[in-house]
Amino acid sequence: MSSFRLQKFVDSAVAVPLLRATSPSHSTNAHCLRSNTFCRSYYAANRVGMEKNGREKASDDVVVRDRHLLEKKIAAIRMAGPGKLQVIADFDATLTRYRIDGLRGQTSHGLLQQGNPEYDAKRQELYEYYYPLEFSPIIPIDEKTKLMEEWWGKTHSLLIEGGLTYEAMRKSVANSKIAFREGVIELFEVLEKKGIPILIFSAGLADIIEEVMRQKLHRSFTNIRIVSNRMVFDDDGHLVSFKGRTIHSLNKNEHALDMAAPLHDKLGDNDGLANDTANVKMRTNVLLLGDHIGDLGMSDGLKYEARISVGFLNDNIEASIDCYSKSFDMVYVNDAPMSGVVELVSQLFPADSN
Ligand SMILES: [Mg+2]
Repeated sequence: MSSFRLQKFVDSAVAVPLLRATSPSHSTNAHCLRSNTFCRSYYAANRVGMEKNGREKASDDVVVRDRHLLEKKIAAIRMAGPGKLQVIADFDATLTRYRIDGLRGQTSHGLLQQGNPEYDAKRQELYEYYYPLEFSPIIPIDEKTKLMEEWWGKTHSLLIEGGLTYEAMRKSVANSKIAFREGVIELFEVLEKKGIPILIFSAGLADIIEEVMRQKLHRSFTNIRIVSNRMVFDDDGHLVSFKGRTIHSLNKNEHALDMAAPLHDKLGDNDGLANDTANVKMRTNVLLLGDHIGDLGMSDGLKYEARISVGFLNDNIEASIDCYSKSFDMVYVNDAPMSGVVELVSQLFPADSN
């Protein structure tokens, strides 16, 4: 959805101007509003290395507030085995890089140009009206949720009315400034090898995420399911409708797995894993990846036993590291690669334990 955020850039005046807001960063954890005066020294003192394997970039950029708790979770998940684990991941700025060549990268919805300037402008107008409402501190959450449903609904209608085609979407991806974090393919590969499902949950558009994966990863994975808004194209490639319940920024975090059932899809050949919702629900240990505090709610639909949460803090690090380090078990900063998470999975399940 075109939930765009006008972004102020501290490091570039020529950055891509639109950034989709994928989750309400203000919505949870009141302690995030506390003073961050200790943040700088805490941050400096608590950088930890994982394993010494030469991945200095990943090691330098991770903050773990409670190492003991993390180790307990690692031990519990390791003991339960890979058959009990699932990965729940946000897409934009989590699997993808926050910056590309020093500029803000595009998001899966922000990149969409529907080939009709009039309708692109109309979607932008909706953004300018609804975005301030999304982040208004005075609108009650139930009222705000209705507004978001309204916004997403209007935007989806404009995409249909404006004649979005599959080809325009494909070209938008081809021309986009979006890239996966280094190490994402390796992460997908190691998880696929161990039969661990990955649920990618997004308030954007599933078809675009799939197209980004096709064009940027150049391969498919049997263990990935995408839970997002899914478009329906007719035989001529024109968008005609959307499937299922609309997922917007304020319901993305509720009952993720229940919403997944009618919406999930796969990128690769079906090996039984991708369609087995029950199998996913049986997996009561979670590795959660997100870039917003609100992303922690992605596992709310699951009664998990152990959860390791990994946060990617992409911006305003000094101001937010306190909140993030209290909320996530591990926090990666400076647009770190995914290699640290690959290493974590390797720690959880060494190659000979598969
Ligand atoms: Mg995100």
